[in-house]
Amino acid sequence: MQPLTDSLLAHALRDLPLPDALQPRWLAEGVLHLTPPEPQRALVLSAGIHGNETAPIELLLGLLADLAAGRLASRTALLLVFGNLPAMRANRRYLHHDMNRLFGGRHRQSPPSDEAARAAEIECTTEAFFATTGDLPRWHLDMHTAIRGSRLPQFALVPHHRHPYPQAFFDLLAAGELDALVQHTAPGGTYSHYVSETFHAQSCTLELGKARPFGDNDLAQFAAIDRAIRALVGGEPLPTRQKPPLQVFEVAESIIKGDESFTLHLPPETENFTRLPAGYTLASQQDRHWTIGEAAPYILFPNANVAPGLRAGMLLSPGTPRLSLPE
Ligand code: ZN
Repeated sequence: MQPLTDSLLAHALRDLPLPDALQPRWLAEGVLHLTPPEPQRALVLSAGIHGNETAPIELLLGLLADLAAGRLASRTALLLVFGNLPAMRANRRYLHHDMNRLFGGRHRQSPPSDEAARAAEIECTTEAFFATTGDLPRWHLDMHTAIRGSRLPQFALVPHHRHPYPQAFFDLLAAGELDALVQHTAPGGTYSHYVSETFHAQSCTLELGKARPFGDNDLAQFAAIDRAIRALVGGEPLPTRQKPPLQVFEVAESIIKGDESFTLHLPPETENFTRLPAGYTLASQQDRHWTIGEAAPYILFPNANVAPGLRAGMLLSPGTPRLSLPE
């Protein structure tokens, strides 16, 4: 395990010496505000909102180490957010509540927990950050890894939004060699939705591969997105995409588990973006069934193991060209 990971887990990240030129300010434990001279953009980079999704945490610590050592010059006002610290220490997704359902003030309706308090603290520090960045373009990348395998290994989930998302944001996702982009069509309790809606930022959730323990990640898998983020932070030209164009999807339906009779009729190893045949009964509970239609055959995040009232999966349709992605 890298020394900085140990520092993060041992409450000692604050001891890391940082250049004065970056005006380092810890806004809370695991929340660092860095402002270089003449920033071009305001960028929130977050990882570990789910505590056991370690690869993005290691990626963010690597970026921090290089900023600290002066190996990476920054032209970007940065808020680095290490999300659910108690869950990281326990190598768990969360201790009491899924933090990424509690943003946008939902933590106030939730029973008191570490996650509810931390979501409130992250909202406050994010607001404090953007209050200092004036008219700079506001961007946010919330980095995750997924529970299950995926036919399209790396993808972005763009929150439902009404304000414009400039092409430059999609250029970054393409330069990071992501395989796909999923456009949400309804609001949610994620950190990325909160930042997009509240601050009119360009924000997304990045799913960068499968969750593994600290030290077990193949960081080569994350090299392309790491390069793109470093280019963005440094104000350098983005790397040129080597892969075929991003595939675009839209959320057509969220499958909400109604009660404990809910059953998902999928093998447990079913990968994200699996195309299901039309007419297939995907899920059932005592009062209804969910059947696959022609228009939205792709399954994302199937998980029957959620509390009633929460999402047990999404059905995706091929996306529309309104995102005007690069060719
Ligand atoms: Zn996650």
